[in-house]
Amino acid sequence: MTTLDGLAFAADPLDRASYRRDDKAEVADLRARDDARAIVIARDMPVLSKSAAGLQALLPMAEIDALGGARVEALLGVLPDGAPVFAALLGDDAVEERSNASDGFFDRRVLVAPGREDLKLVDLRSIALSGLVPPEQASMLAAAKALMHWHAHRRFCSNCGQLNDVAASGWRRDCPACKTQHFPRSDPVVIMLAVEADACLLGRQPRFPKGMYSALAGFLEPGETIEAAVRREIHEEAGVACGEVR
Ligand SMILES: [Zn+2]
Repeated sequence: MTTLDGLAFAADPLDRASYRRDDKAEVADLRARDDARAIVIARDMPVLSKSAAGLQALLPMAEIDALGGARVEALLGVLPDGAPVFAALLGDDAVEERSNASDGFFDRRVLVAPGREDLKLVDLRSIALSGLVPPEQASMLAAAKALMHWHAHRRFCSNCGQLNDVAASGWRRDCPACKTQHFPRSDPVVIMLAVEADACLLGRQPRFPKGMYSALAGFLEPGETIEAAVRREIHEEAGVACGEVR
């Protein structure tokens, strides 16, 4: 049985080095290191390099400029061997869309970097489900995609409408007009398995690939306990009243 998300994104080797984000000189030094690597995102899709050993998500920093430069960069953290890892969001015109046949579950757009046959753009779900990159790279890809998606879609201050500045090495956006600080959005969810004797309850959405079933899941609402969210979501989605939640 193939499992998605939970296991695929759990092996995060990065020290996020959050205490270093505000020191611009130190971040610049990290970025200039020979062993620094970039996870490059274009139109929500990670850019992978093809090699004899397979697909690789960590690209040399020089690839950012080779692909036209980044709209936003973020220091994702430092690997156990000391190598810094950055996320970079390319401009939309860095890649060309050859087809748009997304089915609502997998992002099946065909994106290509013109003239770069050595690069491949693959959506994150396909990467995770097919194990296209090592597990520790999948977790970094998830962080990079989520953070860059937030930058791409939250450019303006939600308080006053001004264009915000990127701050804290890509982990905050500051409004130059009203001084509001904006932090990356993170949505807590519950995912749970309702069981009775040796049976369990699974569900599927119409957009799921054929044959795929999932444990039920849903968003945790403000002020709600995890247990209450589990009961509410199972009742909403399946009409089932739960006993003990643990
Ligand atoms: Zn503002």
